[in-house]
Amino acid sequence: MTMLEQGSITIHTENIFPIIKQSLYSDREIFLRELVSNAADAIAKLKMASFAGELSDPPEPEIVITLDKEAKTLAVADNGIGMTAEEVKKYINQVAFSSAEEFIHKYKGKEAEQAIIGHFGLGFYSSFMVSRRVEIDTLSYKPGSTAVNWACDGTTAFTLSDSERASIGTTVTLHIAPDNEEYLEPSRIRELIRKYCDFIPVPIKLNGEVINKQKPLWRTSPSELKDEDYLEFYRYLYPFQEDPHFWVHINTDYPFIVQGILYFPKLRPDIDPTKGQVKLFCNQVFVQDNCEEVIPKFLLPLRGAIDSPDIPLNVSRSFLQNDRTVRRIGDHVAKKVADRLNELYTEDYEKYVKVWPDISLFMKFGAMNSDKFFAQIKDILIFRLAGSPADKPEYLTLQSYLERTREKQNKRVYYATDEAAQSAYIDLHRSQGLEVLMLDSWIDSHFSSFLEREYKEDGIQFKRVDSELDETLVDKDKAAEIVDPVSNKTRSEKLVDLFKQALGKDKLQVKAEALKSESVPAMILLPEALRRLQELNAMMQQKPLEFLEEHTLILNTAHPLVQNLQALAEEGRDPDLVTLICNHIYDLALITQKSFDPASARAFVQRSNEVLTRLTRRQ
Ligand code: ADP
Repeated sequence: MTMLEQGSITIHTENIFPIIKQSLYSDREIFLRELVSNAADAIAKLKMASFAGELSDPPEPEIVITLDKEAKTLAVADNGIGMTAEEVKKYINQVAFSSAEEFIHKYKGKEAEQAIIGHFGLGFYSSFMVSRRVEIDTLSYKPGSTAVNWACDGTTAFTLSDSERASIGTTVTLHIAPDNEEYLEPSRIRELIRKYCDFIPVPIKLNGEVINKQKPLWRTSPSELKDEDYLEFYRYLYPFQEDPHFWVHINTDYPFIVQGILYFPKLRPDIDPTKGQVKLFCNQVFVQDNCEEVIPKFLLPLRGAIDSPDIPLNVSRSFLQNDRTVRRIGDHVAKKVADRLNELYTEDYEKYVKVWPDISLFMKFGAMNSDKFFAQIKDILIFRLAGSPADKPEYLTLQSYLERTREKQNKRVYYATDEAAQSAYIDLHRSQGLEVLMLDSWIDSHFSSFLEREYKEDGIQFKRVDSELDETLVDKDKAAEIVDPVSNKTRSEKLVDLFKQALGKDKLQVKAEALKSESVPAMILLPEALRRLQELNAMMQQKPLEFLEEHTLILNTAHPLVQNLQALAEEGRDPDLVTLICNHIYDLALITQKSFDPASARAFVQRSNEVLTRLTRRQ
């Protein structure tokens, strides 16, 4: 072998390798991705050259990985375009180093976390993270080329000599450094290829076996794909998971290239919508699992793959987040998702309603996070009508709700957060022809405030069914009362006094009203604004929600129990029993609003027993 050249890599930073090693230490494994994607690029370039008629018979493309445990080498060989000695000098010695130098310049001293997202751009040189010496044997496809060997042991010195390589293509041989022997294990290499290079469209072989899947479904035209193809791909990406509800295939070439398939998984309502699941690819090479910087946060609960060569991956996270193209790609993806949701809403409303419980959380989260997304989906946000049958729930958009209730409710949106606990309130509203929406997921308390702000000019107000009494619920005729000439008070006023005295609670407001329903003797009202504030505080301080002290007890003067009690009180025969019953009525109203602490629960049971004992006593 004749030595062609010995030289020094032209860079200004003398100690580039220790820095490369250090900066990328945590992500050493990406070296394989870099080598394999270079190999795939070289194969693609050879294909182009053959299309252009520069060579007649290109070989069947393949990338072969060879592990030699004894020699401690890992080789990545391709039958791509190869390099001439000049090209090696140009691309390996100069170009790559200048980008490496740029990289060092940019990131020196910065926290690793802040550094780079995919470590792209460092390319070939990342192999020094795991090697004590790296060799390249390459033969260019250009007629008359001779094969060259380039070798470098991680200092800035390199050698260039003749190579024995006989076929067109490139072999990169890593002499694995101590402590990196894991990269000589076939199982580890398989794992890495599956992680990073599975969808590279060239067979990657190890020990004679193809170890990558190759076919990225997102690159196939949607018209050629059947549902089963999408499902199979999903199962491949997310094994042992339930099948997704539906998906959207993104295939855009202009003004940027972005392709991908996003799936709407079956979400449990308690999942954290900020945890990412979407896989990011760049030209079919996997970059990372959780591409928070690239796709809008609210799309993260979706699953699948996004592939775009237009995302600058060799920049810092914060730069990426502020990059205009990246933002536009993110907006574009969100728009496609919104389009798909709109399509489902108009074309298969039944399915839309069926999957609504799973997609609503993400849609609401998205609406609150992005004005654009909100504008795209606001007409397909739906709310379940309280009281509609569980097996055939009825849903309304806010707009249709407002239209339906225009006359009676005048832009007031009555809602319930717990259908069982608030059933008395819901029934009361419904019995008078008022409609109640269910807002029962944890995001809804924020979401209703959000909607109020969004529709501020329309004057829409959300009111929980237990926050105040709509005037339609009160019987005004019955409320007109005669004043007792002796006490100068109405019956209602006397009733209120009776309860105030019996309950002895300063902060409690008591009111008597003739409700139009006889279903409950008493109910508790919690003022909407105060209650929301308390909920917000509890959330901010991560404390359990305490029951609002400033609540109102509404006594239903139309209910026989209240009427009987008042008569009993007026008789004056058994004031103890009257006090007991007052407390009991209050507790029964409270019971749907809060859970009792052990002491109140005990008092409640004891009192129940006592009231029953008295009632069953022979006169
Ligand atoms: P990048 O791939 O980002 O350009 P690299 O440092 O990985 O940076 O590679 C530098 C250049 O070296 C490539 O652009 C290519 O021209 C050449 N190169 C690297 N690997 C190969 C290969 N396997 N076959 C042919 N050329 C290669």
